[in-house]
Amino acid sequence: MSYQKLIQGITLLVLISISSLTFSCKEQFSLPKEMPNTAESAAEVLEGIHLEKPILKKTNKSLVGLADSTFVRLADFSADFAYDMRYATKNNFLNAKVYDCAECYTRVKTVKALIAANKAFNKEGVKIKFYDCYRPNSVQYKMWKIVPNPQYVANPVKGSIHNKGGAVDITLVTLEGEELDMGTDFDFFGKRAYHDNLDLPQEILDNRKLLKETMKKFGFWSTRTEWWHYNLQGASKDPIANFKWECE
Ligand SMILES: [Zn+2]
Repeated sequence: MSYQKLIQGITLLVLISISSLTFSCKEQFSLPKEMPNTAESAAEVLEGIHLEKPILKKTNKSLVGLADSTFVRLADFSADFAYDMRYATKNNFLNAKVYDCAECYTRVKTVKALIAANKAFNKEGVKIKFYDCYRPNSVQYKMWKIVPNPQYVANPVKGSIHNKGGAVDITLVTLEGEELDMGTDFDFFGKRAYHDNLDLPQEILDNRKLLKETMKKFGFWSTRTEWWHYNLQGASKDPIANFKWECE
């Protein structure tokens, strides 16, 4: 590695560290319950000065030793993602809230690939924002009951890769949280959402390209008709799951 490249690398690392600290800070304000106890006691130890929680890092769980097939909560392993879990609201094409609470769980191997992809996105000044992650099979049944049409909802008997813990619905936002223009909203069913629709402004095509090419580098493949949907390679072979997370 040349001296110049080394300096560039170090500069980039410093910038990433600063930006990830800033964003983990913001999320700590809204999610104080996720502060690790050790961090809180560390703050108290510091001469009784009540340090603002945002100074401390939010997440510190380790993926080491966890089986690839285990279901985990993504936010426990990285504070660097954004979330808009649409199916935990009525703001989706079903006009129905099908999750009890907004959480993003998925299998360990998917989490590892997402964290790696997000680091690459961060270098481009953006990060992943989730609309949906792992979806319990029982939720797939709920969706099917509302819209029993395989064009829009996977048949729960056959299952979707979301039910297998290997699919995510995502977009990109700036490090400040501003959405990049992808041409349509999430779950827009129509030609404008197709990857092979090139009849779109260059900015939209560039944003989709950044999303697709980066995800591909980290093992995710896309479907032709939904710019937001990504599947982890090999995940279609995994079993349909009905693991359910706790809502507080
Ligand atoms: Zn999807």
